[in-house]
Amino acid sequence: MAVRVRFAPSPTGALHIGSVRTILYNYLLAQKEGGSFILRIEDTDQKRWVAGAEAYILESLSWLGIVPDEGPQEGGAFGPYKQSERIEIYQAYIQPLLDSGHAYYAFDTRAEIEAMRERLKAAKVANPQYNATSREWMRNGLTMPIEQVKEWIAIGKPYVIRLKMPHKTLIRFHDGIRGWVKVDTTALDDKVLMKSDGLPTYHFASVIDDHLMQISHVIRGEEWLPSTPIHIWLYRCLGWADTMPQFIHLPLLLAPDGQGKLSKRHADQYGFPAFPIAWHSPDLTVAKAFREAGYLSEALLNFLALLGWNPGTHQEIFTKEGLIEAFSLERLGKSGVKFDMAKARWFNQQHIKKQGPTAWVNYFIIEAAQENIVCSQQDAIAICNLVKDRITFPRDFWQEGRFFFFDPVDYNPELIQKKWNQQTKEGIVAFHKALSTLLAWNANKIKQLLEATPISGMMPLLRMALTGKMAGPDLIDIMVLLGNKKTHTRITIFLERMG
Ligand code: GLU
Repeated sequence: MAVRVRFAPSPTGALHIGSVRTILYNYLLAQKEGGSFILRIEDTDQKRWVAGAEAYILESLSWLGIVPDEGPQEGGAFGPYKQSERIEIYQAYIQPLLDSGHAYYAFDTRAEIEAMRERLKAAKVANPQYNATSREWMRNGLTMPIEQVKEWIAIGKPYVIRLKMPHKTLIRFHDGIRGWVKVDTTALDDKVLMKSDGLPTYHFASVIDDHLMQISHVIRGEEWLPSTPIHIWLYRCLGWADTMPQFIHLPLLLAPDGQGKLSKRHADQYGFPAFPIAWHSPDLTVAKAFREAGYLSEALLNFLALLGWNPGTHQEIFTKEGLIEAFSLERLGKSGVKFDMAKARWFNQQHIKKQGPTAWVNYFIIEAAQENIVCSQQDAIAICNLVKDRITFPRDFWQEGRFFFFDPVDYNPELIQKKWNQQTKEGIVAFHKALSTLLAWNANKIKQLLEATPISGMMPLLRMALTGKMAGPDLIDIMVLLGNKKTHTRITIFLERMG
């Protein structure tokens, strides 16, 4: 059977980073097995629909470099790929369920359902629901005479169509990560399949679509595990049990402290991004996004891939192609994984490094231009090379390298206080003098001079004089890059300022 997987978001807001991991695992499996990755927009819940959310999902996928094989934009043989355009399909499948007695009309008002719940609560029922017991005394096709049902429909009384769950039945299904799962139907209610607005619910539409789209594996977050027995029952009622997809429910991403599911709240609390890309819509501003924070999409995918999957080797750095090559469902983990932002930064660092400093030269030149600096290609190459080991985000190239263009205006008073004394002062003065006698300006010569004046504390002061910072690349390399003139001038300024 061909591998056909799907990502089926409801366009209700920005994509949580956990969904990006779900997308990734689906995509990797499809690519690995030469299958198809399908994007299906589940937009039948009009109350939760948010303008711009679908466009946001598409843009996120495009930034991640994950192109669906079939979807609203790509088309495909199993379309349409937006559920709002498939309403007739769902309507066609509800009648057989009504005819076979697996589904029934229910006319109860909100108040009546509430009253039923209250009654059950008063009778100490822990989890009151519309189920095999309570449906017996509600207003539905199971308790009303058929003529009355017909009449009420004819006069336009609002109704929903519910799935008739069997009483006290054990539903068993196999999950690719958890193995056999058994659920007693006593714990499940008679889910609404068709709402009073004539639109299907998620449960109904997604089962129909997974079947019609010939989905082979349903890979989704663990939060959907409790819904799966309902889906299994639906497959059986529809006569599709033999071609059910394999279910794989991914363990949760956990907060950095391991306490509970990762949420947007943690992102705020710990100050890390929670969404792939930023989204500015009138009613929702998502500033904290990986793209805007300077993450490379390949690094983000690499980071997410390893949060819940392992390659079975010690390899950590993967390109997207490498991930496809190495991926297998068998190596998905069973337990929740803590979200570790330090690790995310590390992956970014490694991927930037992997691309090599020259990949960032044009980027550097543009950053420089924003501060009205005209930077030559040659200087940009030299600077990017010098600072390459200190880069976590692309903007760091400029942050780390901009000292080249600006004489320091401030020195760190704390450092000065610690290191500035008669000895270091004399050392710097002597070094400064000696520099002006140098005929050739290269690392070797500068090194010889520095070694001739080995005074402790002098190096950090010199670094401060030349860059205005306490940490940075190798001091000799800095001087080589700055050149004779700038080095000389900056030490002069420093000595003047220090009196
Ligand atoms: N529309 C559901 C969601 O928003 C899809 C769940 C599933 O993958 O079945 O996540």
